Amino acid sequence: MRTLLLTIVAAAACHAQAPLPGQALPQALFELREMDMHLHAGFERQVDMNAWIDLAIADGRRVLVLLDHLELYRPSRKAREYKAGYPLGSEGHKALMADFDAVAKRPGLIVFKGWEIFEGELDTGVEPEPMRLAEVIGWHISPNSAGNAPDGRSLIRRVRQIMEIQKRFPVPMIVFHPFDMRLEKVQRAARLQGRELKTLTAADYRFFQPGEQQELIGLLAGSSVYFEIGNGTARYFQDPVCRQALIADIRPLAEGGVQFTASTDNHSLANAKVPFRPEEYDQALGVTVFNTNTIVRELLALRAKRAANRN
Ligand SMILES: [Zn+2]
Repeated sequence: MRTLLLTIVAAAACHAQAPLPGQALPQALFELREMDMHLHAGFERQVDMNAWIDLAIADGRRVLVLLDHLELYRPSRKAREYKAGYPLGSEGHKALMADFDAVAKRPGLIVFKGWEIFEGELDTGVEPEPMRLAEVIGWHISPNSAGNAPDGRSLIRRVRQIMEIQKRFPVPMIVFHPFDMRLEKVQRAARLQGRELKTLTAADYRFFQPGEQQELIGLLAGSSVYFEIGNGTARYFQDPVCRQALIADIRPLAEGGVQFTASTDNHSLANAKVPFRPEEYDQALGVTVFNTNTIVRELLALRAKRAANRN
């Protein structure tokens, strides 16, 4: 019985690593580092848009989701602190999207337009008008929210909320950086307690309780909700204990068919200097090139269908 079970588990894992039908031609797939499904290119941009995009291209990018934090377009002190100027409100949303349209004309680049929206808006209500301008929406899972660090229960709750709101805004949605935000918050809490980080165990870092990964796999099957594995992961991967926890949390999801994205989450020139080598962690996490191309294919298909509907 045990042998049979092991064989089934091994076969399932093997199956998950294989490309799906229609994903077999390497020519039809972007390499991990060619995709950045989360590049900030609005208020926080420190250089001219073309210079900013040149940096991404120089490091190998060919597919970009350009976005900004939606809350920066609301009246607050924060937006005025940034160098790049956009009007607030609806004028700003349109100006940003027009800038992204201009980038999309650059040869050799595929550009999708998006927003990053604070997860709390899933509780308090969203701003519909700018959301209708986006081809893709990412939900910012924050280590600054009140309460505990993000975990399996909070993620399952957010996924249900995202699937609900997706009925009103039918675009692919990404849960941004859930896993590294937990690690950040766990380490921050340890420091506040005067605890040395090297005393933290994989169990302290682990995101999921037993059964939660299976619940998520079931919830996400056949959905258009993706999880981000951002370049923030690279830093945690250098710590063997964090690495062990990340693999235990993420690999079973990938093998169970959950879809992931590859991204930098770059905001600044300093971020852009950090090399983007997602294969260095994605391979151990079981996040393949086939898996991460799914969102690109979906976005291209949606764009093609919109164009066909216009003709
Ligand atoms: Zn971001």
